Amino acid sequence: MTKRPNLNSLTRTELADALAEHKQPAFRTDQVLDWLWKKRVRTIDEMTNLPAKLRQVLNEEFSMTPPSPVGVLKSSDTTQKALFKLKDGRYVESVLIPASQALYGEKSDRLTLCVSSQVGCAYGCKFCASGLAGFTRNLDPDEIAGQVVEVERATGQRVNNMVFMGMGEPLANIKNLLRALELITQPWGIGIGARHLTISTSGLVPQIKKLADHPQQIRLAISLHGATDEVRNKIMPVNKKWGVDELFDALHYWNERKKQRLTLEYILIQGINDSEKDAKILAQKAKGLGAKVNLIPYNTVEGLEWIRPSDDHCRRFKNILMNAGVTATLRTEKGHDIDAACGQLRLKKETEEGIIESPV
Ligand code: SF4
Repeated sequence: MTKRPNLNSLTRTELADALAEHKQPAFRTDQVLDWLWKKRVRTIDEMTNLPAKLRQVLNEEFSMTPPSPVGVLKSSDTTQKALFKLKDGRYVESVLIPASQALYGEKSDRLTLCVSSQVGCAYGCKFCASGLAGFTRNLDPDEIAGQVVEVERATGQRVNNMVFMGMGEPLANIKNLLRALELITQPWGIGIGARHLTISTSGLVPQIKKLADHPQQIRLAISLHGATDEVRNKIMPVNKKWGVDELFDALHYWNERKKQRLTLEYILIQGINDSEKDAKILAQKAKGLGAKVNLIPYNTVEGLEWIRPSDDHCRRFKNILMNAGVTATLRTEKGHDIDAACGQLRLKKETEEGIIESPV
């Protein structure tokens, strides 16, 4: 793998500094940014209004290795899942959820892209395909932002909403995530408003506080899946490091600094976290935060034993929350027929190619 920095991981200031070192006029910065983020070329040689000498210098000092789309799977409900090959031969997935499809059980008029932030994941949540083969590496900023560019290129559509809920724990890659947020939100970059980005975390307390102090009004979703230590310890190893009380303290800290309402994600798993008592505790905690709850009936993952509760049971769970005055949605099925649960496509591909041994 090349050691040259990636040209489209640079912020505007860094690019301006790099060009100034080569005594380039100030307008070159905007020219290069225009090629990278508006015209979206894949190589430096395509930047035809730059002097040949400058293109040569940029080629010597920087690389451009955008994720290459390998295939797009279309679900019958119009959700699309894209598989990308990265510069080191690894794979990640993104899921495109079209406008007019229900997001979090609500109708959305936005085109939402769910992106990955790592190859694999170290957090090992017991219901998740991404954690099955462990952690491989963090995605670079250009690989995170590049998922938007390449999906837009492949579909001809403009993404205007993003969720960081694909493969990986975004807050375990916070340095690259923050840089990617700049590439994605700035007008010289992709230009999606910060309020249209939702970062999802399994509950990394110090990083939640760090992100709370970040000036942009991004949204936060917590993969909660259990409102007590007893339940959470069973399914989310991260809870042994930062328990429920500590997590909720961090969420109150977040609330003091951000305007947008928090979302609590809750996968309903039969016999694990779906009792009436679970619902009542969850209702009380969500109410204390003013958070909305997104209930997701468990999606079968090959090799895992968990069971999805019946639709009636899920509705009863939701009603307990609603009756307690909590805004709750029950996610309508999306992408079930293309295994949209994050990480499954990548596992299949890397197993076929012998990059990883079959984890299940
Ligand atoms: S749910 Fe998120 S944090 Fe947990 S193993 Fe899967 S990708 Fe990692």
